[in-house]
Amino acid sequence: MIIETFILSLFQQNTRVVACEKTGKAVCIDPGEDSPELVEYIRSNGYDLQAITLTHAHLDHIGGVGALKREFPDAEIILHADDDVLYQNLPQQPLRMGLPPEQLSALGLDYDVPPPITRYWTDGEEYAVGELVFKVLHCPGHTPGHVIFAEMKEQAVFAGDCLFAGSIGRTDLPGGSYEQLIDSINNKILPLGDGLTVYSGHGPDTTIGRERQTNPFLTGMYDLG
Ligand SMILES: [Zn+2]
Ligand SMILES: [Zn+2]
Repeated sequence: MIIETFILSLFQQNTRVVACEKTGKAVCIDPGEDSPELVEYIRSNGYDLQAITLTHAHLDHIGGVGALKREFPDAEIILHADDDVLYQNLPQQPLRMGLPPEQLSALGLDYDVPPPITRYWTDGEEYAVGELVFKVLHCPGHTPGHVIFAEMKEQAVFAGDCLFAGSIGRTDLPGGSYEQLIDSINNKILPLGDGLTVYSGHGPDTTIGRERQTNPFLTGMYDLG
C-alpha cells in the first residue's frame, strides 16, 4: 500500500492518495481543496484513480472534490448518506462557521455546489482498491455520516476527524454528538486492534494502542462529569 499525504487548505487537512502497488488502482481520501500537486502526483505515477472516497462532508475534506472530478471524470464519488445534506450545502458551510462572505474568495473558501455523489457507503461493506480491501465503518459523532476505512492486512485505518493523536474530533458543529463519537471510537475503532496505524484528517499519524493508553478522551481523564 502506497500512501501519499498532502496537507491542504487553511485547515491543514491531510488529503491522501492511497494506491495498490501491484495494480496501480488508487483512491483519494478527502481532497480538501483544489491542488495541482495532487493531480500531478496521481498522473505522474500513472495511478488509475477509481474513486474519491470521503470520510465525511466538512468543507476541509470535500473542498477539492469538484476540481479532482474534473481531472478524473471516471472516478466515483462515495459518501455516507447521512452526510448528504452537509455535502450539498458546501457553499454555505463557511458562512455557518461565521466567516464573512466578502472574505471567502481570499481564503479559498468560495465553493460551488460539488458534483453529484455516485453512490453511498454501507456500514460494514468491504471496498476493494486493487488488492487492498478497506472495511468501511460508520462512526457518527463528529458528523452524522462519518465513516472510517480500515485495511486490516496493512494494519492501517484512515480515521478522518474521529480520532487524532492525543485528541478527538469536534462535536460542537451541527449534527455532532460527543456521546456518539466516544461510542464510535470505543466500539468501532479501538476493537480494530492496538497495532493499527491511525491516519487522521489532521495532524500526525499515531496508533490505536498509543491512543488507547494516552489519549485523555479515552483514558477517562475528560469523562469525570
Ligand atoms: Zn470534520
Ligand atoms: Zn477536518
